[in-house]
Amino acid sequence: MSNEVEFWEVHYSTEAEMRTFDPGNAAKELIQFVIEARANDVFITDESDRVSIRMKRLGRVELLQYLSKNAGRRLQNHFRAVGGADVTDHLHPVDGREVIELENGIQVDVRISALPNIFGQDLALRLFYSEQALLDLDQLGFLDYELDLIRRLLDSNGGLLLVSGPTGSGKTSSLYAFLRYLNRGDVKIHTLEDPVEFVLPGIVQTQINRRMGIGYAELLHAMMRHSPDVLMIGEIRDANTAEVAVRAAGSGQLVIATVHARTVAGSIQAMHSFGVNPNFLANSLSGVISQRLVRRLCSACSTRITLATTPGELRGGPNGGDVQECRSFSIPIGCELCSDGYDQMTCVPEIISINQAMRRGIASRLGTAELAELADANGLLSFATSARQRLWSSLSSVEELVKVSPESDIDALVDRPIEMAAPVI
Ligand SMILES: [Zn+2]
Repeated sequence: MSNEVEFWEVHYSTEAEMRTFDPGNAAKELIQFVIEARANDVFITDESDRVSIRMKRLGRVELLQYLSKNAGRRLQNHFRAVGGADVTDHLHPVDGREVIELENGIQVDVRISALPNIFGQDLALRLFYSEQALLDLDQLGFLDYELDLIRRLLDSNGGLLLVSGPTGSGKTSSLYAFLRYLNRGDVKIHTLEDPVEFVLPGIVQTQINRRMGIGYAELLHAMMRHSPDVLMIGEIRDANTAEVAVRAAGSGQLVIATVHARTVAGSIQAMHSFGVNPNFLANSLSGVISQRLVRRLCSACSTRITLATTPGELRGGPNGGDVQECRSFSIPIGCELCSDGYDQMTCVPEIISINQAMRRGIASRLGTAELAELADANGLLSFATSARQRLWSSLSSVEELVKVSPESDIDALVDRPIEMAAPVI
């Protein structure tokens, strides 16, 4: 797909063109186009003398089209009207939601958010469609041994499993895949979400209500009286929720929750910062998964290359030792099937299953750095290892993976084009 995409041939800038502009049709075409491009976010933004339409695909913003102010406003208003977001209020941020059915029968859930900007507004559309978002555990991009580790954590009898990572790191997809894996009909599963993004049959899903002031803690207390076997908490963000989560996990329930942190050690530290009893936390925590998303190399066009020399800084090869093999990895090329050599996002995790030594470290409230060291010595699957594995197996590129693990030795491979030898055939 080229970078200059236009989904409308006409720019609708003159009065005559404006008469043919149908915002309803345009909205459908736009959504259809964005879904086909496998993007999830659309921005319809007022600029000084025009309205831009952009989408975010594989983590990057791409310009689709400029509209005249008039056409752009009508399109924005159309989305706001059908989404139930107040069309007249341009001073406050407003939200809305609608379901659009495309020609091929796919239903797209469109979440609308309008934010005033200095020229008018920035209308953000976030698209959810079940085909794409409800991935199975083995479709998220975890490698086989990572999946084994995750399944062991999910199959264990109770305990707290923390999931962390920055916004846009695929936490929601992972959580839903975990729940679907556990949802075999013989356990009672409850979720507490903000908001519920997908309906999962057989699971009791509850949404917090900020407007009414009904938050995680209050609902969680009530939920405990409904005999859950598995509890999913959208995000632990206060002391009360943290305490109930730890207590539930300690009494035999499996609690899966996200926390706002970037690493495994940071996630444990985040729980400490909520003031939970360190001994309770140490005893109930079963594992931590922190994750990032990177762009996956397109298998149709990516090319495996070999460096002429092995960078001396590199410490470990594909099987932990053979540095010679590190010279070979794949680079993005770009073809009709992909975007700049990449075809979708894939997961890179940091995972630990908590053992006795880790429990002692957590109970004694080690700081983040000491905890990270201890984790390293106690079976942590680090970002550096995960990133290297994905490099050697041609899943992603040096440029993408170095972002996940900037301190790692992959950095030694950046900007070494001169040393690149002929492609390996
Ligand atoms: Zn390609």
